[in-house]
Amino acid sequence: IRVRPLSGSEKKKTEKNIIQFPGDGAIWLDLGISTKSFTFNVMFEPEACQSDVFDNCGMTRLIDMALNGYACTAFAFGQTGSGKTHTITGPPELVQPDLHGLIPRSFQYLFHLMKKKPTNGYRIRASYLEIYNEQVQDLLNPSQKKQLAVRWSKDSGFYVENLFSIECESMEDLMAVLEEGLKNRAVGSNSFNEHSSRSHSMLTLNIDSEVADPEDENLYITKHGKLTFVDLAGAEKTKTSGSENNFPTQEHITESNNINRSLLVLGNCISALGDSKKRNGHIPYRDSKLTKLLADSLGGQGVTLMIACVAPSGVNAVETMNTLRYAKRAR
Ligand code: ADP
Ligand code: MG
Repeated sequence: IRVRPLSGSEKKKTEKNIIQFPGDGAIWLDLGISTKSFTFNVMFEPEACQSDVFDNCGMTRLIDMALNGYACTAFAFGQTGSGKTHTITGPPELVQPDLHGLIPRSFQYLFHLMKKKPTNGYRIRASYLEIYNEQVQDLLNPSQKKQLAVRWSKDSGFYVENLFSIECESMEDLMAVLEEGLKNRAVGSNSFNEHSSRSHSMLTLNIDSEVADPEDENLYITKHGKLTFVDLAGAEKTKTSGSENNFPTQEHITESNNINRSLLVLGNCISALGDSKKRNGHIPYRDSKLTKLLADSLGGQGVTLMIACVAPSGVNAVETMNTLRYAKRAR
């Protein structure tokens, strides 16, 4: 869980901070008439800086595992304005290294680890996509206006057909991919905030390596790891109407159903996986594009890190409560 600080405008409105950390992994939510208590594995208080979060959220272990052939995903969940993008990417201008989020820090750590084992022949390919209205758009190839299809193959599992994939040999290459994707995310939408609050973005590194077999140095073991970062759409209940006085159009309704569908299905998958009786049964990955693409990280041999982001102010109490409940299902 990460709780962001009160913003300047919240302070100006003398918004009250309703979150307390009494210790022992507990978080208290002051709802006026009652106090709700939750416990979580790791919590970041508003004072936590970007490097605190990177160092202590489990990200380094995920990167280690991705290099060793596992499918790993880190995602941020929470209402719009709760700090998801700040946590996953940092400010999109990327100019201040101390404000860099998990993605640029992970790139750095990845190269740090790879340099230690130069004989492993690592190969990194990066892709960056966005899911909006259950449609997949390539953030590295914005001229491709057609939505891309999600397919399944026996060898690769679910994948996006015709998705651009860029081979990266340096930190600079990876940062260029991130910049390009962020730039294209901002273009092509009338209202950037609205668009980013309704879309899921997914940056994936495919990491292949050839490691000498410890038992026979003439043999090589090929590993295919994957590291994915997901900045989810806002978890708030989207209004179905475009404006206060208008009836919702079909388009608005489709949009909010689809957005909720991906988040809803993600929640259903997480619930099923977290339930020892259901874990080995049917998990509804196929019900949304998001969960298809995350299936190998969520289940099987994969590892997923979920960071639930919440705002500390009273006006956000209901959404904060929803986010903490959702996060609890993932424990
Ligand atoms: P989201 O992506 O969930 O909609 P953002 O990451 O854009 O939210 O955060 C909303 C605003 O709050 C941004 O201006 C961001 O810079 C600021 N913010 C979020 N988290 C923090 C934090 N931990 N420390 C300082 N500012 C933050
Ligand atoms: Mg955002």
